Amino acid sequence: MICESDTIAAIATPLSSSGIGIIRVSGEESIALVDKIYRGRRSLNDYNANTINYGHIVDQNGEVVDEVLVSVFRTPHSYTGEDSVEINCHGGIFILRKVLDLVYNTGIRPAEPGEFSKRAFLNGRMDLSEAESVMDLISSGSEASYKNSIRQLSGFLKKKVVKLRSEIIHEAAFVEAALDDPEHYELDGFDDKLVIELNRWISEIKDLSDSYHEGSLIKDGIDTVISGRPNVGKSSLMNFLSGHDKAIVTDIPGTTRDIIEERVVIGDIVLNLIDTAGIRQTSDKVESIGVEKAIKAQSYAQLNLYLVDSSMKLSDIDQKYLSSFDPSSTIILLNKSDLDSIVDMDDIHHFFDGHVVEFSTKTGQGLDQLKSAVSDLFFDGNLDSDRFYITSEQNYNDLNDALKSLELVRSSIANGLSEDFFTSDLYDAYRSLGYIIGEEVEEDLVNKVFSDFCMGK
Ligand code: GDP
Repeated sequence: MICESDTIAAIATPLSSSGIGIIRVSGEESIALVDKIYRGRRSLNDYNANTINYGHIVDQNGEVVDEVLVSVFRTPHSYTGEDSVEINCHGGIFILRKVLDLVYNTGIRPAEPGEFSKRAFLNGRMDLSEAESVMDLISSGSEASYKNSIRQLSGFLKKKVVKLRSEIIHEAAFVEAALDDPEHYELDGFDDKLVIELNRWISEIKDLSDSYHEGSLIKDGIDTVISGRPNVGKSSLMNFLSGHDKAIVTDIPGTTRDIIEERVVIGDIVLNLIDTAGIRQTSDKVESIGVEKAIKAQSYAQLNLYLVDSSMKLSDIDQKYLSSFDPSSTIILLNKSDLDSIVDMDDIHHFFDGHVVEFSTKTGQGLDQLKSAVSDLFFDGNLDSDRFYITSEQNYNDLNDALKSLELVRSSIANGLSEDFFTSDLYDAYRSLGYIIGEEVEEDLVNKVFSDFCMGK
């Protein structure tokens, strides 16, 4: 694979008014080019690697634009593995943009999204699963997702995969050696030994791949529909969970005309909330569109939060919907439980055999019970932020491919087939696992992974 070595730059910190903002520059000429706009005690070219140096960034007229600290890194000891410079400017969008313009004027080009990490990968500074976890880290919402990315970044998956691969290739190589040189290598009893190893590999890989479903819920969130009749408190719930007023809250039934989406984090759980118009038959044209959308959204959402107003009698519509909901993906919130209640849990359980939570968007009552109900439905009741979860679909597919190949080996042995027949399946498993850590990975996959990244990473 050929790595482009031209010099690239981007702002690596969020574009906001913060204490400092960092511009990252990487490539063969990064130190010499940034030196053109740097004034310090010495030329940047003369500073040692891994040093932070005080100075100023100046414009074409020699006017000082910002007082800066410039870090100098030399290949291969940098994030990308190339010569790199990081300019620590005073935060603020204006100054950062101005310095970045000066950087571009020296002939350095803007980095593509994810290009720094792509170079780090191509230069062997990180493997593909680590690179993907940089992306997760950038977008991680909850504590659990953050911890998982850190764990991945520290190479947990890589270590596991490297170990599995070396064990697999060891056995395959032994078969090759024995077939080539039967005088020195004995295959008698080998199959029995191999089956023991196979069972262990399969169970370790299965543990990883089984974590994918929960891992993707942690990372991407649970698509959640908030539904219920008009005025039960859907918009209030959305506002309560998201902590600010986004949906319109009023006392007039049916004001939530369209679907509003919001990503909220409650503890370790991320919910992608879809607020919908009340579910009811209506002659109001706009509202009826909302109702259609609500029903449609419910069919693709993973979680249905159905609100019932506990201070009012259950309506026929409530009864009809309650008995039709799937308890494995529905939680009933008995809202307004701060008021005198007319409907209680037993009334609901009469129609619905699943999680019911007494809730109040006014007082916050029921939030912990809601969290544990979500955890029960989606994480078998134990959302474990210390467990490692697979979060990449590509990793998941590669693990499953490796599993299939190893299962083929196991059934070949069970069917009494000879060793030379199943070594190719061992190689296939080895290759599939290799994709996870970026060995023999195809260029288009690399491009796909890295184009998903943020600028400056
Ligand atoms: P929606 O039509 O389902 O979106 O309902 P809204 O969120 O607009 O709420 C309708 C009315 O119920 C508003 O006046 C809210 O302030 C009120 N409301 C919502 N949740 C609660 C609650 O938990 N307790 C009480 N007492 N009132 C609530």
